[in-house]
Amino acid sequence: MHRSRLRKLVLNTISATVVALMSLSCAYASDYQQQLNEADKIRTSDIQKFSTILDNLQQHFSEMSAYEQASFQYFELYRKIIRGQIKEAIAGYEQLIESEAPEEIKLRSRLTLVNAYSFTQDWKAGLEQLGVLIISSKQITNSKLKDQLLMVAATFYNSLGQYQLGLDYSQQLKSTTTTLRGQCAAAHFEVEAAFGLNNLSSNSDLFAKGIEKCQQANEAVIIGLINNFKIRSLLKEQNYQAAMSLLTQQLPQIENTRYTPLKGLYYSLIAEAAVKLEQWDVVKKYGELAAPLVAQGQSYQSAVRTYRALYEYYVHVNGTTAALEAYKKYAEADKTYVDDIQAKSLAFQLAQHQSIEQQNRIELLDQQNKLLQLQQQLIENESRGRRDILIALFCVIAMLILIIVQSRRSQRHFRLLAQRDGLTGVFNRRHFTHEAHKLLKHALGQRQRVSCIMFDLDYFKQLNDTQGHGAGDAALKSVAEVAKQHCRPEDIMGRIGGEEFCIILPNTSQQQAVEVAERLRGCFEQIEDANVDSSHTITASFGVSETFISGYSLEILMHDTDLAMYNAKSEGRNRVVAFFEQLRLNLQPVVQ
Ligand code: GH3
Ligand code: MG
Ligand code: MG
Repeated sequence: MHRSRLRKLVLNTISATVVALMSLSCAYASDYQQQLNEADKIRTSDIQKFSTILDNLQQHFSEMSAYEQASFQYFELYRKIIRGQIKEAIAGYEQLIESEAPEEIKLRSRLTLVNAYSFTQDWKAGLEQLGVLIISSKQITNSKLKDQLLMVAATFYNSLGQYQLGLDYSQQLKSTTTTLRGQCAAAHFEVEAAFGLNNLSSNSDLFAKGIEKCQQANEAVIIGLINNFKIRSLLKEQNYQAAMSLLTQQLPQIENTRYTPLKGLYYSLIAEAAVKLEQWDVVKKYGELAAPLVAQGQSYQSAVRTYRALYEYYVHVNGTTAALEAYKKYAEADKTYVDDIQAKSLAFQLAQHQSIEQQNRIELLDQQNKLLQLQQQLIENESRGRRDILIALFCVIAMLILIIVQSRRSQRHFRLLAQRDGLTGVFNRRHFTHEAHKLLKHALGQRQRVSCIMFDLDYFKQLNDTQGHGAGDAALKSVAEVAKQHCRPEDIMGRIGGEEFCIILPNTSQQQAVEVAERLRGCFEQIEDANVDSSHTITASFGVSETFISGYSLEILMHDTDLAMYNAKSEGRNRVVAFFEQLRLNLQPVVQ
């Protein structure tokens, strides 16, 4: 809420209290006030008398005090509601709220408005008024009004399908109300909310407790409403017989209340239960009794229930045309019911959205405020400004340098990552090829001998298959680690395939390279890795060639070394074979 409006509300409340106190002290003197109090007391129980009092007071309107006039207006509008002139009443209450009327009258008007909006299904307007009421509820000291507010909130939220909120308010009412009527209403709203939240079984003690309170308060309609939730719980639990017994037992009292929506509700429930029990005559009788009653007001759910039952009845008796008619009405009612639920949920979401928006706007204003304060400070400190600017500039430059250094570092890091094999840390094939090319080119210029060793692990697939990929990975890492230790800094090693590695050794003859390979082969056999079962000895087959024989083309050098390595495989594995010309003539595939 806007702050100035809030301030106005607080001021109005204080002035209203003063006016209320004044009017209270005048109450003994004022006959009008006494009549107004009387009208308030009987406005629901004796409508006729209520109306007579108002007619009488109307003639003395100009003689009344401002407070009395406002009270009178409130009751006049209430009379409109009773007469069904809801729209006019709503417009009148809206005016009264905007007028200079005492805050207590405005509060009562708001309470009645929320109920009226719920009746006309103007959920958005209802939520707005309820919001104002809830914000100002802390200032309400009158316990009767406080009860009324909690009742209105619980009913409204339940009607809106916001059962958790309905439950919260009904429980608040239950703990604060001091009247039997309040206790009875609280029980009804609590049962309704629990049912809506799917949290109610037919044997819950909420029913008995609520009914007891309502019996003491002599509230037959509310007893009927509470029992309706018990019956619906029984129907949900498919205990149709028990539902029907309770319905038949309650029906006389319900019919006695002369409250049409409640009668419609009970008739529709009887029809529904009778369908389940296949008592077709009962379905027809109560379906037809319910139909005209549920067609009015907002008894969408009762209407759905009634026409569904009638449809089932006509299908049962093969009344095709009547069945179709009932089905049409059922579909229509169902659509209205679903639309209503959607409209409610939309209104609620909208209200939530608006309150978030309002919050955001307040925060934005706060931020703007801070910015203004900062600007103010800047102006005040203009003399210090230049020095501050220099410091700020220095900070910015320092930060830029830091960012550049960090970005260089991370670039290097990424470059290294891109060059290396993730598992073993040695060069990947792409980078290995790049480096080897460079080395060979340089060696060619120097007429330097370069050797190439290639090795491939033996029976590696078997290791993977029998001990899992974890063991395979561990073996690869160990092998790469051992090989690295045997390499000189100028040597280049890379992983060129799954379990295939290649080493380029500058300034090395084939004979020397064979010795290196032999040493490696011996070391591999000795590898003891915790992740590899000792039943598997890690071995590899090696091929060796050199530029003196294969030339300085990396592709040919590697190809020849590969041939030698495959010769080692075919000769029985775990051995080193030095390339010789003959191998090029012997290109048949290796038999495994
Ligand atoms: P040979 O003695 O003839 O070399 O037989 P081998 O089983 O070692 O050869 P083969 O080419 O049939 O199998 C190589 C296996 O290596 C196949 C593949 O699943 C496995 N491999 C490739 N890369 C990885 C890796 O990064 N980790 C693991 N655990 N296995 C890998
Ligand atoms: Mg292999
Ligand atoms: Mg292989």
